[in-house]
Amino acid sequence: MSTDNNTFKILTLGESGVGKTAILRRYVENKFEKHHLATIGIDYQSKTIKIKNKEIKLKIWDTAGQERYRNLASHAYKGADGIMLVYDITDEYSFSKITDWMEQINSNLSKNEIGIVLIGNKSDIEDRIIDTEKGEEKAKEYGIQYFETSALNGNGINEAFEGLAKQILKNYKIKNNDVGSRTISLQSSKPEDIVENDKKARKCC
Ligand code: GDP
Ligand code: MG
Repeated sequence: MSTDNNTFKILTLGESGVGKTAILRRYVENKFEKHHLATIGIDYQSKTIKIKNKEIKLKIWDTAGQERYRNLASHAYKGADGIMLVYDITDEYSFSKITDWMEQINSNLSKNEIGIVLIGNKSDIEDRIIDTEKGEEKAKEYGIQYFETSALNGNGINEAFEGLAKQILKNYKIKNNDVGSRTISLQSSKPEDIVENDKKARKCC
């Protein structure tokens, strides 16, 4: 994990054409081009954000074309802290493939140690095929958060990346027994201990 130096490695995954490159472009450069060339040669783009006064650098890797081979090489997953799993709300097929992507993610990474968010992109298009509820249900199935985005008008993009970064931070803290300003002993067999800690924390602050 690269979280020690507050740099998170994030991968964008999902079928070809769902808008992964466009989302990344909108987030980092605040640009959208209807007919851009396929990303070639750019491995990742970075953006630094602040969460609870903590500076976090997001290194976002674009799966530039490799997604067509369905099986992303396992080295691409190496060291990933977060996954942005994207489908297109106007494309049933891209939604149906989410299950396969989740399986692939789970076979390469430990789900409890990374953050994953599900993204329904192209929310600017009125003739949607996949309802918001369906996306939410799917995300719930996997215990992850769901966001709707539009790379075209920018809706939901910042929220999605921030949601993912917060999820990564949360998992990282749980893993390191560090929850906010207090420390929970995960070894404790008595749940009361945790409640007690919680009370103390509230009293003191
Ligand atoms: P990728 O293969 O997942 O990287 O998809 P791209 O980013 O290349 O986008 C595929 C196509 O969908 C391009 O023509 C984009 O302009 C278009 N696109 C991407 N995001 C959106 C969006 O939010 N709204 C609309 N209307 N089109 C989008
Ligand atoms: Mg692309």
